[in-house]
Amino acid sequence: MTKILIIYTGGTIGMVNDAKTGVLIPFDFEQIKENVPELARLDYEMVVHSFVPIIDSSNMHPDQWKILAELIKSNYDEFDGFVILHGSDTMSFTASALSFMLKNLAKPVVLTGSQLPIGEIRTDAKENLITALEIAATKSKGKAVVPEVCIYFDNQLFRGNRSIKYNTEKFEAFRSPNYPILAEAGVQLSFFHNDILPVPTEPFYIQTKFDANIGVLKIYPGMTEEVVYAVTRSKVKAIVLETFGSGNATTAKWFTDALAEAIENGKHIVDISQCQRGSVQLGMYETSSELKKMGVISGYDMTFETAVTKLMYLLGADLTAEEIKAQMEAPIAGELTK
Ligand code: ASP
Repeated sequence: MTKILIIYTGGTIGMVNDAKTGVLIPFDFEQIKENVPELARLDYEMVVHSFVPIIDSSNMHPDQWKILAELIKSNYDEFDGFVILHGSDTMSFTASALSFMLKNLAKPVVLTGSQLPIGEIRTDAKENLITALEIAATKSKGKAVVPEVCIYFDNQLFRGNRSIKYNTEKFEAFRSPNYPILAEAGVQLSFFHNDILPVPTEPFYIQTKFDANIGVLKIYPGMTEEVVYAVTRSKVKAIVLETFGSGNATTAKWFTDALAEAIENGKHIVDISQCQRGSVQLGMYETSSELKKMGVISGYDMTFETAVTKLMYLLGADLTAEEIKAQMEAPIAGELTK
């Protein structure tokens, strides 16, 4: 019988309205089960592991990503697939981080959650949970159909490290701006095999050392030197630079000097675009050629969530500056297109 491990971390999916305060508070998985009697009709063996305490995903941290990776590792041989119930707010960060931690993944790891708690009549939680389980259980010729870390939400399956949460109000909370969806749930579950990573042949292992010592610099017209230096002269080891359009920034000397100084001092600077769609192309305009010359790393079409988690992962991997640049600029888990 197909065996699925459900890891329940928390999030809206398992929250109820506290009658006294009106605030959403988490409840345990037993109550989730009571609200989804359909689970008993699925033909899988399901084992549940709950976080203690369960958390709102705003409280996720690299330490919890590590716990998730270790849980998957220690249960890897016993289970056919993994479903992680997770708050939607930081789901894309966790999915991105796991995509780097879980090496040679040959089994599905499907994250899901919901916009409305499972106890609400109009909830999206039931469909999300049931279909995520089905995806985690789907095999073809004995092999997993989706051997990836992915997010299932509102009838669509996204590559985790390509996803972003873009809507707080619609059931359609996620998007994958620069990569096609991996599957769609309609009357049938349709998998888009050409867009799904192949099943690896090398053995599975995990790499959980993350170094979160990074900074973020989102630029805007009128930004002052003081603000830029607060980041470039801080103790961070790397900076995600969110630029305009295809990777452009002001050519003001004080700005390029500040970045050049940071690079000389050993910081890694990764350029990603404030635009959600499209890619950074360093050197395409005069406003990015100086960045390219000084050694700014191109983040191509990576999401913010992926750039942040990938940097933490590479900083934790004890690499040289050249190796970090080379790996940041190449896909290592299907997260970017050059
Ligand atoms: N605040 C919740 C969380 O991320 C939102 C959600 O689950 O959708 O945990």
